[in-house]
Amino acid sequence: MAKEMNNRKEQTKYREGNHSRNEGNSGAWKFLWSLNTKHKLKHFIWKCLRGILPVNEVLKRRTGKGDSRCVCCGENTETLEHMLFLCRHAELIWKAAPVRWDGLLDFRHNFWLWWNSLMEAKERLEGRDHIVLTINILWQVWKSRNSIQFNREGRCPGETVNKALLEWLEYKNVGSEENSNRKVGGHKAMKGGSWSLPPKGYIIMNTDASLNIQKQRVGRGIVARKDDGGLIGAWADSDDKLGEPAVEEALAIRQALNIAKQKGWRKVLIQSDCKGIIDKINARKAENPNIGVILFDILKLNKVFTECSFSFIKREGNFVAHHLAKFAINLINDFEWQQSFPEWLTSLARNDVGASAPAL
Ligand SMILES: [Zn+2]
Repeated sequence: MAKEMNNRKEQTKYREGNHSRNEGNSGAWKFLWSLNTKHKLKHFIWKCLRGILPVNEVLKRRTGKGDSRCVCCGENTETLEHMLFLCRHAELIWKAAPVRWDGLLDFRHNFWLWWNSLMEAKERLEGRDHIVLTINILWQVWKSRNSIQFNREGRCPGETVNKALLEWLEYKNVGSEENSNRKVGGHKAMKGGSWSLPPKGYIIMNTDASLNIQKQRVGRGIVARKDDGGLIGAWADSDDKLGEPAVEEALAIRQALNIAKQKGWRKVLIQSDCKGIIDKINARKAENPNIGVILFDILKLNKVFTECSFSFIKREGNFVAHHLAKFAINLINDFEWQQSFPEWLTSLARNDVGASAPAL
């Protein structure tokens, strides 16, 4: 007990000491405000950094009233760091999250240090993106905590992570030029190379591979939809080794065919945004021996189906698969969704299909 008190005092001192230093560290603030995310999330992090987010320990310290104990675990004092990282409640959410910052584990006792180390990731490829995703997760940890604290309602960690992903993807998509037209009305006429509903009885599968040269990792995304545009499967996985882009795209297509075969689907349309590969498959030849082997597999698998065709789709129409592939790069585990889909995925899929799906 005495030890805990000491720690707490030390922590408070540490935090307060840091806060006075924080003020001078304009780099951290500048960085925070420069991030491409909602203002409410920036404000949330700002409060965390200032040590004024009203966790129970802060409330107790400021008002002298209330209970500083954490309601989620009922065991420890709820400091900011306990709430965000150390509590079992938070730990389970981080375990389910697609980004993990194992290098920062040692800093979890001090949010300010943790944040400063996180900031170093901004130089990495897509580092800023991952930092923003991380902020979305932190925010959802807090929201989930609030729902336990105020409504006594626990959420499943996976659901909390899905919420974070949805918000992150939504904001990214609204913000990016590529998708700005998509949101408006959603009634865009389908041109060649865009996503459109497949003929009756067909399953349409979109594939994509996303490469991260720096990490030497590849992410693959596959999404399958019925002829009414309804999702029937989505897969995201990643690999450590990295082939050339065309090879990785071909591998994603082969994987899609294997899935379709396993599912017993008879009529499939495969779409990829890699025109080179689609052309090679349709021409049934490849000069590159690395691709040749995969192509051979693809053409062999092709015979399993009553109907199977391959077509090129513009990146904008391959939206869901593309995002799944990007998302997959950071995954620790492979993800597979069938029958039930997280909300962020269905909402992404709606974006692809636009108004062409029948209104229910
Ligand atoms: Zn706790």
